Amino acid sequence: MKYDVIIVGAGPGGIFSAYELTKLDANLKIAIFEAGNPLEKRKCPIDGDKIKTCINCPSCAIMNGFGGAGAFSDGKYNITNQFGGSLYEYIGKNEAITLMKYVDEINLAYGGEGTKLYSTADTKIKKMCLENGLHLLDAQVRHLGTDINYVVLENIYQYLKDKVEFFFRTPVEKVAKIENGYKIIAKEQEYECKDCIISVGRSGSKWMETVCKDLDIPTKSNRVDIGVRVELPAEIFSALTDELYESKIVYRTEKFEDLVRTFCMNPYGAVVNENTNGIVTVNGHSYEDPAKHTENTNFALLVSKHFSEPFKDSNGYGESIAKLSNMLGGGVIVQRFGDLVRGRRSNKARIQEGYVTPTLAATPGDLSLVIPKRILDGIIEMIYALDKICPGTANDDTLLYGVEVKFYNMEVELDNNLETRNKGLYVIGDGSGVTHSLSHASASGVYVARHIVKG
Ligand SMILES: Cc1cc2nc3c(=O)[nH]c(=O)nc-3n(C[C@H](O)[C@H](O)[C@H](O)COP(=O)(O)OP(=O)(O)OC[C@H]3O[C@@H](n4cnc5c(N)ncnc54)[C@H](O)[C@@H]3O)c2cc1C
Repeated sequence: MKYDVIIVGAGPGGIFSAYELTKLDANLKIAIFEAGNPLEKRKCPIDGDKIKTCINCPSCAIMNGFGGAGAFSDGKYNITNQFGGSLYEYIGKNEAITLMKYVDEINLAYGGEGTKLYSTADTKIKKMCLENGLHLLDAQVRHLGTDINYVVLENIYQYLKDKVEFFFRTPVEKVAKIENGYKIIAKEQEYECKDCIISVGRSGSKWMETVCKDLDIPTKSNRVDIGVRVELPAEIFSALTDELYESKIVYRTEKFEDLVRTFCMNPYGAVVNENTNGIVTVNGHSYEDPAKHTENTNFALLVSKHFSEPFKDSNGYGESIAKLSNMLGGGVIVQRFGDLVRGRRSNKARIQEGYVTPTLAATPGDLSLVIPKRILDGIIEMIYALDKICPGTANDDTLLYGVEVKFYNMEVELDNNLETRNKGLYVIGDGSGVTHSLSHASASGVYVARHIVKG
């Protein structure tokens, strides 16, 4: 079976490379291989009743399938070079922003019209942050919401399904170089192509390592982000979220001069489990539809750990910490802030008596048994700093879920076309280590598609 282009992974990176290829050249023969299910078959079995925690399905409905890890995400589409990846280092700042805006227009055309675009430009919040030792990063953010994000994906799939050959539940096992292109092996079948785009996201990180080893592509891996997800009454953060929806705020701790930052803010949202390679960590999302709003806002507080030689396994370090929480809590642990600072574990009764109702059924416990002291001290310091701009953040009943880990894929050595040292083999999206967001991953897909068509 021969194709012009084979795309591995149907997350935002893969989807937008396919979309752009079909727009630019309707004659191209394109195939997408996806380990997970089509969108409508992606159903996580956790129902909070019979199945309460992750049962480690062979293909995780949250992370794998059409739409990738972003399918049930909050659909916060950040248009910025200040976070979400380092795509601009490869393609230039202007080009990166232009492509992110281009994808935003497509999202609007496929069901996202009417959703709100927030911006940090000209906001008084920036000054208020600075006065309290906090730094607000610049961005525009389109909030699609989990519901509209799903509709956009459904519509894009309808557009693509007759132009591209989809192979669902077909994880690619091997990529090999052949004369004039590549051969991929999946379910004991061989498929050939001239150009191959790999976009396997975070869930494909381990597999990506084997591809790089087989094809002698240099990589490096030295970063992992570790922290907690904070959940509090939405009113406490409404001064920020009403105006900006999501604010990325950075704080330098006094004790260790470490940087702690807010990440993935979900006003009126819910805290959720995330499963990466069988390890359960925490994440969050929220719906655009007010009928689905909760009373709480959640966001992550993360500390980046950069390691130096000889240590190479930064993700392994993050995994070990997450495994510790899974060992103690059977999954994610939840603790009241008041219990944490008093040095005692939370238990069921204390959580129930609290004024914040948890949106995730996590196990009450003690995060200080899991998270390294230096990181936890930084998080506690930042909660007190945020309390100055959003009074109530440091209330005893504020809930902390742990651990939240942002695994970074190892960085694959790529040139400015996002092409590996093997001509015609491109690595994009989060699987490349270049991007960590919907917007950067999608933009990288468009960029590579244009490069391939240009020849
Ligand atoms: C709960 C959650 C909420 C999030 N919220 C946001 C948000 O609001 N805003 C934001 O910017 N980002 C968010 N993110 C991150 C965002 O989803 C990712 O940055 C984005 O999806 C990356 O896109 P990608 O195409 O690179 O990879 P992915 O979306 O991870 O897609 C990769 C796909 O490749 C498939 N795959 C892996 N290995 C193979 C293989 N060997 N063969 C075939 N297929 C394979 C996987 O099944 C997957 O479907 C969130 C992530 C999660 C988990």
